[in-house]
Amino acid sequence: MSTVTHLSYEEAVARFEPVIGLETHVELGTNTKMFCGCPTAFGAEPNTQVCPVCLGLPGALPVANRAAIEATIRIGLALNCSIAPWGRFARKNYFYPDMPKNFQISQYDEPLCVDGYLDVEIDGELVRIGIERVHLEEDTGKSLHVGGATGRIHGATESLVDYNRAGIPLVEIVTKPVPGTGARAPEVARAYVTELRDVIRTLGVSDVRMEQGSLRCDVNTSLNRPGAEWGTRTETKNVNSLRSVERAVRSEIIRQAGVLEAGGTIIQETRHFHEETGDTTSGRSKETATDYRYFPEPDLVPLAPSADWVAELKAALPELPRVRRARLQTEWGLSDLDMQSVVNAGAVELISATVEAGASAATARKWWLGELARRANETDSELDALGVTPAAVAELQGLVDAGKINDKLARVVLEGVIAGEGTPSEVVAARGLEVVSDEGALTAAVDDAIAANPDIATKIREGKVAAAGALVGAVMKATGGKADAKTVRELIIARLS
Ligand SMILES: [Zn+2]
Repeated sequence: MSTVTHLSYEEAVARFEPVIGLETHVELGTNTKMFCGCPTAFGAEPNTQVCPVCLGLPGALPVANRAAIEATIRIGLALNCSIAPWGRFARKNYFYPDMPKNFQISQYDEPLCVDGYLDVEIDGELVRIGIERVHLEEDTGKSLHVGGATGRIHGATESLVDYNRAGIPLVEIVTKPVPGTGARAPEVARAYVTELRDVIRTLGVSDVRMEQGSLRCDVNTSLNRPGAEWGTRTETKNVNSLRSVERAVRSEIIRQAGVLEAGGTIIQETRHFHEETGDTTSGRSKETATDYRYFPEPDLVPLAPSADWVAELKAALPELPRVRRARLQTEWGLSDLDMQSVVNAGAVELISATVEAGASAATARKWWLGELARRANETDSELDALGVTPAAVAELQGLVDAGKINDKLARVVLEGVIAGEGTPSEVVAARGLEVVSDEGALTAAVDDAIAANPDIATKIREGKVAAAGALVGAVMKATGGKADAKTVRELIIARLS
C-alpha cells in the first residue's frame, strides 16, 4: 500500500496544474430509436419498446434515423464544428448484458462533427473550451440488480435487464484537453456543462435532464508539476448533476495531488463519483481503443450529409444562449456584474418571460433576485420549482403598479401564490388584501392615531412634517398593513395643518 500525503485543495493547486476534459452523452429526443422504429418514451414497462433490430436478433438490419443525424449536425454547428462530408458508423465490440448485440453501433475514426469550440464565462471572463468531436451512437439497455442491499451487482441474487433504452440515439460530445485553468478547473468544468446543456436545450433536440440521465457526464482529470508534461488522467464516470461535476473535479485533484506528492503514480482508470461523500473510488482499468476491435459497420451505408443540407441547418440555428444573454443584458440595461448575478441565479429565462408577460425588466429582476431568490434559498429549491410562474410575477407587479396592493402586501400575496391559492388577483380577493385608499375608511384610523400620539401631533402642527412617519406607521399597524401609505400621510398632514 503506497502512502498518501494529505493536501488541502489550495495546496494541491499550488503545487500541481490540472488538465481537465469532459465527455458528455446526450440522449436525443427523437420519437423513434437510432436504427429502428421503436418508440423512445421514458418510463414505459420494461422490454415493451423493443424489436428484432434493437434486440440484435439474427438477420435484423439497422436503418439510420434521419432526425437523429440532423440533430447531431445541429449540435455540431452550434459548437462551431466542421461537419464531415462523408463518414461511416463503426462497430464497437464489447460483451455486456445490457448490449443485446454484443456490439454498439458508434462512430470511431470518422465522427460526424469535429474541431469546434464552446465559449463559457467565468466571472465575466471568457474561457474557450475546444471541442474535439461530436459523434452519434446508440444507447445501451439498463441492468437492474435485485436482492442486494446496495442495488449493485455485488450481493444481488438476480439481475434483470430492460432493453427499452437500447438503441436510443445518443450523441457524445468530447472536449479537447483543457489546460491552464488552475484552481478554477472545477468551476470551468461546471460552467462548460451548464453552457452545453443550455445550448442543447435551445436547439430543442433533447430535454437534457441530468437527473433522468438524458445528459450524462464523464470527467477526465490529470495533474502535472508546473512546466512538466501532462500527467496520467483518470475518468470519473456518470456524474449526475452540475454540482457533482464541480465536486468530482475538485476531489480528484485533491486525491491525485496526495498520491503524487507522496511519490506515487496515477493509474489510468475509470472512477466512480459518490454523491454522499463527494469523493471518487476506483472502478475498472480503462480499456483502450484496441480492446474494442472497432471496424466499419457493414450493415449501414456511409453518412454523406450534403453541403446544401448543412448550410440550411446552419442558417436555421436559433439564437444561442451566450448571444441571447448579451442581447438581453443590453435590453435590460444591466451592468456586467448585475447580469452575472442574474445568470448565477439561473434567472435569465424567468426574467425574460416575466418581461414578456408585461413587467419592466427592473421589477422582474427585483422579484426573482430578491423575494423569490430568498424563498428558494430558504427551502433549498430552484427558482423555477417554487410554483410561481413569470406570468404570476408580472401580474403581481401589475397590482402594485395599479396601487391595488403595496410592496408589503405583495409579499403576502406571493406567499398565497406559492401555497397554491391561485393567481395573485385570486389571492388578493380571497384573503382580502387590497389596500384601503378610500379616505372615509382611513379617516377614523388617522384620527385614532392622532389622539393616541398627542406629542407627535403637536410636532407636526409646528411644521415638523418628518414626524408624520410615526403616525403613518401607527395607521398601517391599525389597518393590518392594508392602508395606502401615501393617502394616509396626506390625510395626517391635512388634519394637522
Ligand atoms: Zn427496435
